[in-house]
Amino acid sequence: MTYDPSNIFGKILRGEIPAHKVYEDETALVMMDIFPQSRGHTLVIPKAVSRNLLDADPAALAAVIPLVQKVAKAVKSATNADGIRLAQFNEATAGQTVFHLHFHIIPAYEGTALAPHAGGKADDAELAALASEIAAQL
Ligand code: AMP
Repeated sequence: MTYDPSNIFGKILRGEIPAHKVYEDETALVMMDIFPQSRGHTLVIPKAVSRNLLDADPAALAAVIPLVQKVAKAVKSATNADGIRLAQFNEATAGQTVFHLHFHIIPAYEGTALAPHAGGKADDAELAALASEIAAQL
């Protein structure tokens, strides 16, 4: 399977549609997931083009993983979560719905089950507030 640039994250990276951005540099964009599995669900999206982990350039992976760690720590601090789940899906059968590589940083809260993957849309004002609270921890 090849990379299709018309995917929604490709459009966000090109500035064609809006996002609740947390951070951006030359290698990656960090933004809120608008259908969060928990409060503070954040996505780290490498700018290097690949469909998922399986076709990614190892150098691009090496460049982005330190940012994934940094964002995971910032999300935990900003949300006071009890733990962080890191998720990444490869192909539709495995749960992938957007075909541009991304890493899910999903806060876990004691006594609260995670919402379904790509479920209900969150409130925009709440997402904007979370984006700035997480950015402040980076
Ligand atoms: P995956 O299923 O691993 O491909 O994850 C795609 C994620 O993107 C899901 O968790 C969706 O909730 C999320 N998502 C879809 N559209 C958008 C969007 N426009 N902005 C932010 N997150 C999105």
